[in-house]
Amino acid sequence: MGILEQPVSCLKGVGEKRQEYLRRMGIETLKDLIYYFPREHEDRSCSYSIAQLPHGQRAGTRAVVTGSARTRRLRRGMTLTRVPISDGTARGYAVWFNNPYTARHLRINGEYEFFGRVDRFMGEVQIQNPQVTKAKDRAGDGRGRLVPVYPKHGKLESRDFERMIAKALELAAGKVDDIFPARFREQYGLEEINKCLKNIHFPLDMASYNRARYRLVFEEFFLLQLGLLMIKREVKGKREGISFKEVPEEGRFMDGLPYRLTGAQMRAWSEIKEDMEKGSVMNRLLQGDVGSGKTVVAALALLKAAANGYQGALMVPTEVLAEQHYLTLTGMLSGFDLRLELLSGSCTAGQRKEIYGRLKDGDIDIIIGTHSLIQEGLEFARLGLVITDEQHRFGVRQRAALVSKGANPDILVMTATPIPRSLALILYGDLDLSIIDEMPPGRKRVETYVIGPGKRDSAYGFVEKQLKEGRQAYVVCPLIEESEVVEARSASEVYQELAGQYFKGYRLKLLHGRISSQAKEEVMRDFREGRIDLLVSTTVIEVGVDVPNANIIVVENAERFGLAQLHQLRGRVGRGESQSYCILINGSGSRASYERLKVMADSNDGFYISEMDLKLRGPGDFFGTRQHGLPELGIARLPDDMKTLRAAQSTALSLAEDPNFLNDSSWSQARRELERFFGREGWQSGVI
Ligand code: ADP
Ligand code: MG
Repeated sequence: MGILEQPVSCLKGVGEKRQEYLRRMGIETLKDLIYYFPREHEDRSCSYSIAQLPHGQRAGTRAVVTGSARTRRLRRGMTLTRVPISDGTARGYAVWFNNPYTARHLRINGEYEFFGRVDRFMGEVQIQNPQVTKAKDRAGDGRGRLVPVYPKHGKLESRDFERMIAKALELAAGKVDDIFPARFREQYGLEEINKCLKNIHFPLDMASYNRARYRLVFEEFFLLQLGLLMIKREVKGKREGISFKEVPEEGRFMDGLPYRLTGAQMRAWSEIKEDMEKGSVMNRLLQGDVGSGKTVVAALALLKAAANGYQGALMVPTEVLAEQHYLTLTGMLSGFDLRLELLSGSCTAGQRKEIYGRLKDGDIDIIIGTHSLIQEGLEFARLGLVITDEQHRFGVRQRAALVSKGANPDILVMTATPIPRSLALILYGDLDLSIIDEMPPGRKRVETYVIGPGKRDSAYGFVEKQLKEGRQAYVVCPLIEESEVVEARSASEVYQELAGQYFKGYRLKLLHGRISSQAKEEVMRDFREGRIDLLVSTTVIEVGVDVPNANIIVVENAERFGLAQLHQLRGRVGRGESQSYCILINGSGSRASYERLKVMADSNDGFYISEMDLKLRGPGDFFGTRQHGLPELGIARLPDDMKTLRAAQSTALSLAEDPNFLNDSSWSQARRELERFFGREGWQSGVI
């Protein structure tokens, strides 16, 4: 075992408790620790004179203590401790709130460096709660004055990480294998890995930090791109797929629809059809904004597979959606003598066993379900087509697990999460893309309003007006139950309030993730069939739910949701004939939240909204496994690192074109890293 794989407990000062704490953050080995990068660096060069200390910033100065510490009591048990300091240019004070201790260690006439927040008030300069170092200690600790700042994690402060990481780096110094051969590093101006890892934490100056960061970002993008390219090549090149034949059922299905497919739906379908008829495996992403009509296209593909004698599986992220798709597809395909089945959480053990048996015997043509479909023991007779809906909810591994239940089935992944065009380049590296960029005719724009808490009454008054006209409504809350930590409305609380106050006499129901599958299905059925007027819910209704008579959605504490998520939620309405409404309650009342929510009022375009979301919230949330089923990026930031991305991408592309390069021993480290990055299963089954 290499030094990097050693557990963090081998460091002095990391006991059982801290080890457990780190483990919960996903940090188990020295390597994990070293790859925990600082958020920023603070310049502690203490280069300011007292006279020049910048107001309102964190900054440092070197000064002499000129008098003794004085501690004063303030209101409510607070204390204030002041120490006079001077550096010849001016006099000032180091001050501490509720900490009389640090000052006691200072000697009068001793010279120190003080680093903290500067406050200038009525001609007096203060450094608040400063960190203090003896001036002579500072000379030559070899680390420079750029001090890394790590995100605080519970009890672990930035300084704790700093100490642990410094020790880990000491142990690992010079021992990290570089995934890039030296020749390659030279060619692309990439710094050696051991040097990078030191400089990303403890750089001597910003230039060395930037060089280190460039390489690490490059590496991350490079691996991502290379992985996606290899997977794509694998899927396309080597794997014999199924050649589905053209069947008359396709035309019959379209003739039987109550509407005509839009041009965009037709285009997407013909791309999918062509893929399915080809001998190689289909690996296609179908992207279309909320409500653009992806389900009917999926139904066509499933029908084609079944008519060819193969089984199809549709995997969705929630039970509510599984049940709904089951009903929709059963309706759409009713004229075709197919056997559809729903594998739901409310199936009894007996029913489950029966379904497993029939699947294995080939007595089911189309199965619909959640993650339950990837359970061990579930087998297909002839799985030919795998579709995942709302693919961003599934990880790489889950999709791979379903696919591995067949012999090279075709794969269609559908998503309504519009991905900013700037990111499409990376995310679709491995998939062919079809886009439905047109809404079914006659859709009205959902009128959207952002209101403060003061307007809640009139908002619910408006909801009541809609209910009186026979429409139905959603009210969405960020929490299930009241919480002491988070200040936001819970679904239970809102439900009580609405049922007892605003909507006496109406039929209300509460829906959230903690009620049983059976109860959930029942509530959704009642809502769909009009036996419930108003549904108070958490985000369990976020994806896919399609009840055209519901025309108004109210989101409580809308500021707690991302814009892309709000767009999904809003997609629950605007599916029928009548004008639809979306009311976003800005619970925080803050201007910044208002501005962000206002984007929703201004636009119904999922692409535009996700661009704005990315811009306003930063990409942290955007890129994780949670959203798109890709490996999490540790250091790269989009769109800032777009240029590095392009460089890494073209490099990866030219390397991947050489079919032997991964057998080259100088790249063996990179291959291992790829496996780790994507996870073994996803990588080996060749599917992402
Ligand atoms: P999504 O893409 O969000 O999954 P759905 O497949 O749920 O959208 O379709 C949204 C609604 O639009 C459904 O009620 C569906 O019946 C309807 N729809 C789909 N395609 C058409 C079309 N070409 N013309 C009219 N209505 C359509
Ligand atoms: Mg859908």
